[in-house]
Amino acid sequence: VSHPHAEETQLAEPHLGAVLASAGLDAEYVRAEGNMLYQRAEDGGEIPVLDYAGGYGSLLLGHHHPKLVAYAKELLDAGVPVHSQFSLHPEAARLALTLSRIVRRESGYEEPYFAIFANTGAEANEAALKHAEMDRVMRLGALLATIDDGITKAREAVRDGSATIPAEVFERVGLEPRDSGVAALNELTHHLVTRNATQAGRPPVLLTPEGSFHGKLVGTVQLTHNEGYRNPFKALAAQARFVPLDRPGMLRKMADEERATLFGLEVADGLVRLTEHDAPLICAFILEPIQGEGGIREVSREFVQEVHEVCAEAGAPVIVDEIQSGMGRTGDFLAGTRLGLRGDYYTLAKSLGGGLAKISVLLVRGSRYQGQFELIHSSTFAKDGFSNRIALKVLELLEADDGAAYRKAAELGDRLLAMLGSVRDDYPDVVKDIRGRGLFLGLEFHDQSGAPAAPVAEAARSGLFGYLVAGHLLRGHRLRTFPTASAPNTLRFEPSILLTDDEIKWLETALRDTCDIIQGGYRRPLELP
Ligand code: PMP
Repeated sequence: VSHPHAEETQLAEPHLGAVLASAGLDAEYVRAEGNMLYQRAEDGGEIPVLDYAGGYGSLLLGHHHPKLVAYAKELLDAGVPVHSQFSLHPEAARLALTLSRIVRRESGYEEPYFAIFANTGAEANEAALKHAEMDRVMRLGALLATIDDGITKAREAVRDGSATIPAEVFERVGLEPRDSGVAALNELTHHLVTRNATQAGRPPVLLTPEGSFHGKLVGTVQLTHNEGYRNPFKALAAQARFVPLDRPGMLRKMADEERATLFGLEVADGLVRLTEHDAPLICAFILEPIQGEGGIREVSREFVQEVHEVCAEAGAPVIVDEIQSGMGRTGDFLAGTRLGLRGDYYTLAKSLGGGLAKISVLLVRGSRYQGQFELIHSSTFAKDGFSNRIALKVLELLEADDGAAYRKAAELGDRLLAMLGSVRDDYPDVVKDIRGRGLFLGLEFHDQSGAPAAPVAEAARSGLFGYLVAGHLLRGHRLRTFPTASAPNTLRFEPSILLTDDEIKWLETALRDTCDIIQGGYRRPLELP
């Protein structure tokens, strides 16, 4: 393989380049098509590499899908406006309608979903958090206004002598019982208003499962469980509470711990009474139906049930992050469909752009949607004329022939899973587990930190074993995949629906060779650069 630019000074993330090189993953690709990437050989020819990383989930339709490429050329040749922010976008309206129709079909909600467009996955999740927080603050404001109203009415009633304040009202809020005069009234209302302001000012609570990955921007990184990504930035934004997936009842317990009670006053039968109100403290619950970077792990139906119940009680929206799992990859448009998961919000990105455009979207269920959000959230690049139209074409391709693409993803996934299962069965000491659905699969290796070969054990101890294997697959088998970002012992397989039987066989040969090497005590070393 030739490296024509190797001698040049590297200023574009050279540290990352060095890390890739240390695992033998420093490949340059010069062309892409379908499931293949091509490197340039020394003799000027091309070296094909089979791509199972699939753009980390953005290439369900493969690299350079011919219909998308032809359409993209057509759009550019026709001079279709690309950047025309703050104008009417009928194609965006059509895209939103199409997405809403598909999501309603799968979620079972009757209401339409409104769309806010963005550029990246993390950005769509940031928009979701902002919308949820705006909605929470508005609900909180409305509650405080109602309480203020009640307090004002009670003050008037005490002032004009039509009501008195019983001693128990003071006692319940921790004040000395007083006579019912104006000074006592002032003390009581001051106490209530101050206390309410403190409770209402508590930071919003965000809940998400352990293992979650929702992006690396300032807000979303707080919801990404991996401490390596999150810890340096903790001070920048509201913190999430991480809910274990395998302990039923924990979500309920955590939600119960996050309660804020506000007090108000009302007048009945000439007496001032205390009223209690639950303030909306929980901003949102956000989850991936199948965790991607957390190691291709599907949440259970029981967990989904608990999410629905707890969020309904708390009045908090359920945000379903389908950025990696959605767009048909699992055999349904949404991975949550099979789990009975119903989102108030959905986020989509990755394959929505068909591998050519950068586009993401936040969908919000009609009755939870706050139109004002549109006036305070935007991006120069969001909702651009090119990406909108490419995304519409992607949906057209997915929905064609009554969803043939979804059936294809499911059927190919079954075959790929069966092959991975046969590898696991033949190498039970090497392969710990295989997981996932459709073309969203993972293979977890047993921990190798006690391996006889020192470099392997060392890689395992520093969380780099998966990258060592990825390096071997690339260099030894011309096959590209990576570990999941937060579970580095799990390899990801996210090919496109163009996957062939030969390509499944190619992966099988590569995996069996890798397992042979690991099982054989590394008599033949995993190829190191
Ligand atoms: N959510 C999920 C579930 C993801 O898998 C990812 C990317 N791996 C993101 C959010 C972030 O998307 P992006 O990289 O486009 O910001």
